[in-house]
Amino acid sequence: METIQTFTSELSILEISYLVASVLFILGLKKLSHPATARAGNLWAAAGMAAAILFTILFHQKEGQPIGNIIWIVVALAIGSFIGWYASIKVKMTAMPQMVSIFNGMGGACAALISLMEFPKMQNMLAAEGVGNMLGGEGIAILLGLMIGGVSFAGSMIAFGKLDGRIGDIKHPVLRIVNLTFLVVLLVALFVILFMEPVAGNNLPIYLFAIAALIYGVTFVMPIGGADMPVVISLLNSFTGVAAAMGGFLYGNQAMLTGGILVGSSGTILTILMCKAMNRSLMNVIIGAFGVAGAAGTEAEDKTVKEISLSDAAVLLSYSQKIYIVPGYGLAVAQAQHLCHELDNLLAGKGVEVKYAIHPVAGRMPGHMNVLLAEADVPYEKLVEMEDANNEMGNTDVVIVIGANDVVNPAAEDDPSSPIYGMPIIKALDAKNVIVMKRSMAAGYAAIPNNLFYHPKNRMLFGDAKATLQKLVAEIKSL
Ligand code: NDP
Repeated sequence: METIQTFTSELSILEISYLVASVLFILGLKKLSHPATARAGNLWAAAGMAAAILFTILFHQKEGQPIGNIIWIVVALAIGSFIGWYASIKVKMTAMPQMVSIFNGMGGACAALISLMEFPKMQNMLAAEGVGNMLGGEGIAILLGLMIGGVSFAGSMIAFGKLDGRIGDIKHPVLRIVNLTFLVVLLVALFVILFMEPVAGNNLPIYLFAIAALIYGVTFVMPIGGADMPVVISLLNSFTGVAAAMGGFLYGNQAMLTGGILVGSSGTILTILMCKAMNRSLMNVIIGAFGVAGAAGTEAEDKTVKEISLSDAAVLLSYSQKIYIVPGYGLAVAQAQHLCHELDNLLAGKGVEVKYAIHPVAGRMPGHMNVLLAEADVPYEKLVEMEDANNEMGNTDVVIVIGANDVVNPAAEDDPSSPIYGMPIIKALDAKNVIVMKRSMAAGYAAIPNNLFYHPKNRMLFGDAKATLQKLVAEIKSL
């Protein structure tokens, strides 16, 4: 047995498998950075995870004994895999962010449960050895895993509720104080427990610590809302990675450590990019300062809105030279991406230059529009990032806003009382004409009115994006 399990005296098969898994995670992550290779990247990383799990089951040993409870492990794996597979084939594209939040929360919960399970064992051992505190490396890893994993789990569940429209924002200024108080309590408790004398069976402090982490997770996400959820979601994602990395430290498991570090660091980079895209500082996010301004933007009830007929829209688009399409959440809801691509092909056939202006937080998850348009085989070269698209708006004949709202709201630029003030937007109004396709005058995710709709340059084409695009395509074909 020993000869099978040991490759060389220093390097076991298990360690090599963890190295291979880590390399697969890194290569997978690299591939995820481009839409063309993202699918393969996902598979590579999943293969790394499958290898790490399989080799752990086959080769992990504790005190010379192979792993036990195989039946339990296999049954749990089968149930978890089935739920994951079923959820992923059933989930609607527009509900992906909710699913990502739940899955992220599960990662945090796993990390927290590992800590809850390992703490009593460690404490009993230290008590038996007569050690005076729990300052050893394991104590810190266990407590950080519990704290960060607990916050990530509870926060992700609240984020899920918010994205799904089940939970509203609670933006009372008192919550900011409650928030900070809980954070301080958590940090103090962490040190108190670390310096406590280990007493076998004394698990109450760790349970209280876990409850405090869960409460902080709730109060942390509760005030954050409106247009700022993307930042929180990626921040929670990075928390889960760090919590999992703590598990890797605890068990000396390199695959878990690398996986956790990769999720933690890529989540942190994404958070920073999101903050930049929203023009917010991370501190603002953490103390829940944004969206609190509360002013609902300039009410625009007394203004008139101009509509455009399908035939006029068809003529305007067909005789344009350059068009930008601004896709948003409504395009995903309507599942109109294929028709959108058909419109774009049709116009391109008439010699019109058509490109897509992609706002970094359009839709409901990072990269939502890229994924949506890739599904309809829109070439990546046609997708232009916000800043570059804005530079070209001046010589654009028509901007067609399809199911987008917050990402083109001029209040972000000209209304300091607006909750989204300061957020960079796609400057649709710099173009010569704007057509907005949506079903009504309803607000977007940030729940604020949009004065773009009333601007003289803009004309509304009301209706479900799919139905409208269908009619528009037919109209252009008949010209
Ligand atoms: P918005 O949510 O601002 O607006 C979407 C618009 O689509 C609505 O006003 C709605 O108007 C319209 N719509 C909905 N269904 C349809 C349909 N079937 N046909 C046509 N129109 C439809 O979307 P944006 O993409 O502009 O902005 C994204 C918002 O979501 C930002 O505030 C962002 O911060 C937030 N967010 C983004 C996340 C991310 O990671 N990207 C995550 C979480 C939040 P109507 O009902 O009148 O049709």
